[in-house]
Formats: sequence, structure tokens, C-alpha cells
Amino acid sequence: MRIGVIGVQGDVSEHVDAVARAMREYGKEGDAIAVRRPEELARVDALTIPGGESTTISKLLVKLGLFDEIVRRATDEAMPIMGTCAGCILLSKDAGIQGEKTKTRLLGLMDMAVDRNAFGRQRESFETDLEIEGLPTAFHCVFIRAPAILRTWGDCVPLSRYKERIVLAKQGHLIGAAFHPELGGDLRIHRAFLELV
Ligand code: GLN
Repeated sequence: MRIGVIGVQGDVSEHVDAVARAMREYGKEGDAIAVRRPEELARVDALTIPGGESTTISKLLVKLGLFDEIVRRATDEAMPIMGTCAGCILLSKDAGIQGEKTKTRLLGLMDMAVDRNAFGRQRESFETDLEIEGLPTAFHCVFIRAPAILRTWGDCVPLSRYKERIVLAKQGHLIGAAFHPELGGDLRIHRAFLELV
């Protein structure tokens, strides 16, 4: 399998490393590549979308001719996608007032509404261990100017919460995480993602 990491902005190399390590650890043959061009997107079986700045990533996806093709492949071919933090915002259908103010074009693939920078200024970044549905032990979660998932509907299922707010959700072949599973060292969420491919 070949996993693409959207490589236009944000913590791209951390994502490539985490995916490659998860493949080794869980015995999956294949590689992880950064995706910046439509030709690269055409060669991958699944995608991760890193954290960074969602408005910037969105604009670059449009500019580089990747945006519509990501939506098409996710919709028509059920291509698995995992979005973390900014990537989670882009997967949502509604990014609230901040999404509107910045006119951020969302991929709109998951039935969820998010609140950008939901954990406020003083708490811009923090780490905590959370229970995640389907995992027998807690997962160490790194939050960096993180969004919260305010609500889900349709087929989108919440899998973890921090202080009442949803921070991990899954909808079929799509996973959105408000935190950064690529940074904590624990690759069990990546494992679940690779199982979708
Ligand atoms: N706050 C950023 C945004 O709104 C996301 C932060 C992150 O990805 N670490 O796009």
C-alpha cells in the first residue's frame, strides 16, 4: 500500500514518519510519500492530512489542483483519509464563525461541526491521556491550538471526548482527530487507519 501525506503545509514530516513506522510496526508492506501534485495523489491508496493552519492548507489544495480530486476519491472510491487538527477541520462540514470569517473552503466529507482553536489561548497546547473507544488502554493525546468537534450527525461516530467535547470521530473510511496521533509515539490510531486501506 502507498499512503500519501498532504505535504503543502504543517507537520508533514512527522506524519510521513508516523505512517512509515506504523507500517513497519504492524507488518504492512508499502511506503509513505508527501503529496503536493495531482500525479502523486493519483498514486496513493489513502491519505493523511496534517495539522498546520487549515485556511492555508485549504487554499494551497485548491491552488495545486488537489482539492476537488481528494473530495472525488473520498466520495466515489471511498479512499480512506485521516485528518489531524487542521486536517480534522478540513474534513468537517462546518467550521463555525472562524471558518466563515476566513472563508475557509472545507472538504466537507464528515458529518461534523468543529470549533477552531476551541481550547483557548492559555491552553493553546497541552497533553493528556484519554479513553478511546476500541482501545483497551488510554491514549496519550497532544493538543496544539486544537479544534473541538462540537457535534456529529448521520454516520459520523464520536470515539473520544475531553471535558465533554468530542476530540476523535470516525465515519466509515474517514477519521478526524482534534489532537495529533502522529506526535505521541503511540501508533494505535494509525493502525486503525491502516486497517481501512
Ligand atoms: N488552529 C489551527 C487551525 O485553525 C489548527 C492547529 C493545528 O493543526 N495544530 O487551522
